[in-house]
Amino acid sequence: MKVLGVESSCDETGVAVVEATPTGVPKLRAHALHSQIDMHQAYGGVVPELASRDHIRRVVPLTRQVLAEAGVDLAEIDVVAFTRGPGLAGALLVGAGVACSLAAALGKPVFGVHHLEGHLLSPFLASDPPEFPFVALLVSGGHTQLMRVDDVGQYELLGESIDDAAGEAFDKSAKLLGLGYPGGPVLARLAAFGDASAYSLPRPLLHSGNLDFSFAGLKTAVRTQVLKLGTNVCEQDKANIAAATQEAIVDVLVRKSIAALKQTGLRRLVVAGGVGANTMLREQLNAQCAKRQVRVHYPELALCTDNGAMIALAAAMRLQRGAVPGFDQGFDVRPRWPLTEVQPIEVQPIA
Ligand code: ATP
Ligand code: MG
Ligand code: FE
Repeated sequence: MKVLGVESSCDETGVAVVEATPTGVPKLRAHALHSQIDMHQAYGGVVPELASRDHIRRVVPLTRQVLAEAGVDLAEIDVVAFTRGPGLAGALLVGAGVACSLAAALGKPVFGVHHLEGHLLSPFLASDPPEFPFVALLVSGGHTQLMRVDDVGQYELLGESIDDAAGEAFDKSAKLLGLGYPGGPVLARLAAFGDASAYSLPRPLLHSGNLDFSFAGLKTAVRTQVLKLGTNVCEQDKANIAAATQEAIVDVLVRKSIAALKQTGLRRLVVAGGVGANTMLREQLNAQCAKRQVRVHYPELALCTDNGAMIALAAAMRLQRGAVPGFDQGFDVRPRWPLTEVQPIEVQPIA
């Protein structure tokens, strides 16, 4: 079974082909990505209308490129998958519209995928894929959640951010330091030159006794420090604040992940989403998990942020478990769609 996946929920157009046998982990045949970061940079954030228009421009050439790289003919595609939500409504409609038109033209079914399920399952495309059940730390630009995952579609929310997401905390702090958009990776690089102990930043909810997070106060603390330094701010100050910010975010993420492992008694952790690319987070999780004989799994670096591969993969894993793709039903998107509301798979796979 060959699945074509289209991602267009925000500012990345991603297309991929994944191939799956009835059992076993699906394999990535090819994927292509166009990031709109340069286009949105001038505005300091994503401009939804520009995002939609750019997805329109990119999606067909990217699809052609991916099929050529995979050596797969369009007629060989069995199912066309697309991101149904959550995300920007206009941006989602582009991917949904293209996927459904293509499927209708080919006489093939379509499959709408939850974007966060894509992130969550993306480590299955790594060389050392996880096994169920596991604790998942989902840390992206819009979400910070700890989940117990028993299988595809079986998600129990253990805790989440009550305000900003971890990626948002990276990005907003980076913006305050004048590091551009999205500043998460830039802040992480600058942090390597800083002294985290130069500033003491808050770690809200660290001792809350539950698995929730809060990052809004951190951004306010960074703003206060930046304002205090005013025009006297030098590169070393910026690097020190960056290091202290990264340390505060990573510290909370690591400690709550360990607490989630303890609470569930599980010995496997899966990290997914853009912040999962952060080196310090990976190093500290690796160290803490090694001490506790817990295995940690990450997506390939290139598949941490948005991409089409995770969308094709999530569709393929659902189809392997007996989910039924739709034919010619029209389409809808769900800009707001909590992961805990996705349907578990009820149909049993055909042996
Ligand atoms: P969501 O998936 O919740 O809808 P999103 O799709 O915007 O949000 P992702 O694409 O998963 O999120 O991740 C983007 C986020 O990851 C941004 O906030 C970005 O700053 C952050 N990020 C990427 N690389 C790093 C890094 N090395 N260190 C810290 N943050 C990073
Ligand atoms: Mg993005
Ligand atoms: Fe995402």
